[in-house]
Amino acid sequence: MKLRRQDLEQIFEQSRTEYPDECCGILTAPTVDEPSQVHRCRNIQNELHAKDPQQYPREARIAYFIDPQQLYQIVAGAEKKGEVVTGFYHSHIDCDAYFSDEDKERAMAWDEPAYPDAVYVVVSVYGDEVRNTKAFGWNEESRDFVDVEIDIVD
Ligand SMILES: [Zn+2]
Repeated sequence: MKLRRQDLEQIFEQSRTEYPDECCGILTAPTVDEPSQVHRCRNIQNELHAKDPQQYPREARIAYFIDPQQLYQIVAGAEKKGEVVTGFYHSHIDCDAYFSDEDKERAMAWDEPAYPDAVYVVVSVYGDEVRNTKAFGWNEESRDFVDVEIDIVD
């Protein structure tokens, strides 16, 4: 997955701005070989939690839920243009950038990855400091998500 430096900076900025909530968004591109475009999304986890704390016990500080309407619009919009969903990103608050069990569960549709070609970017943010960024992609051989590189272009 290719990402322009300025777009990665935009994700960092969103991570700092939405702290202490996790931020989230979607990445799309004309093809996987071209730099991705960043689509900033709304994390509606707190709204879900307020409405139904039993089904959504976690708050936005430790979880994210992309506004389904935005998710639909962005994914359908990309498909309509013949583009691909190249990735998803979210931030981790005051902890490391790793792919949690919850993150994995979210990325799976039953026992297959929902978007097998998508890269999942996790940004570690402590206050106004972005400390680390990692990316994870599906590996068919190990049937699991593994560390992948973000190809940063200028
Ligand atoms: Zn996470």
